[in-house]
Amino acid sequence: MTRLLAQTTTTTGDDSLFGGVNDFFESGTWLVIRNMSLFFVAVFWLATAFWVYKDARRRIDDPWLVAMATVLGLIPPFLGPIIYMFFRPPEYLDDVHERDLEIKAMEERLSQGELQCPVCRADVEPQFLVCPVCTTKLKQACTSCKAPLDAVWQICPYCETPVDTPTIVQELDQWQIAEPRRRRQRSE
Ligand SMILES: [Zn+2]
Ligand SMILES: [Zn+2]
Repeated sequence: MTRLLAQTTTTTGDDSLFGGVNDFFESGTWLVIRNMSLFFVAVFWLATAFWVYKDARRRIDDPWLVAMATVLGLIPPFLGPIIYMFFRPPEYLDDVHERDLEIKAMEERLSQGELQCPVCRADVEPQFLVCPVCTTKLKQACTSCKAPLDAVWQICPYCETPVDTPTIVQELDQWQIAEPRRRRQRSE
């Protein structure tokens, strides 16, 4: 009698457990949890695709390629954005544009013939005798009127004193003239 009673209790215990699990899966709570999970997965999926779209717009100029990247961000879900990250352009368009502007400005400055110190690359004026930054001797002063003289001048144009050009200054000056030309050739 006691054994039988014990048996029945265990059976009813099992039944109530499985019944509870079945009830749970059939109940509204499970439906709500399942729907919420699906909803969050869908939101996360759309968010990753939107991130791909935003990132592609900052990196890619062509609207068709941006559209293709966005489609890749949507399909396959979650894997698409990872594939996109492998193949996306490494630089932002803004950075590329900024660098182009900098290069253009540098080229303009070189073509305008602005002088630079051959040692430290600081901007120098044509009448400077020494570089104010690194104190490199740039030009020789006229012995009579102290005017700055170009290396190729044979006579001071201000006071007609003949120029006695030291070779070091001449070499520096030639190097300074040749350097921008060489750099421009390389950038072409
Ligand atoms: Zn200098
Ligand atoms: Zn002079």
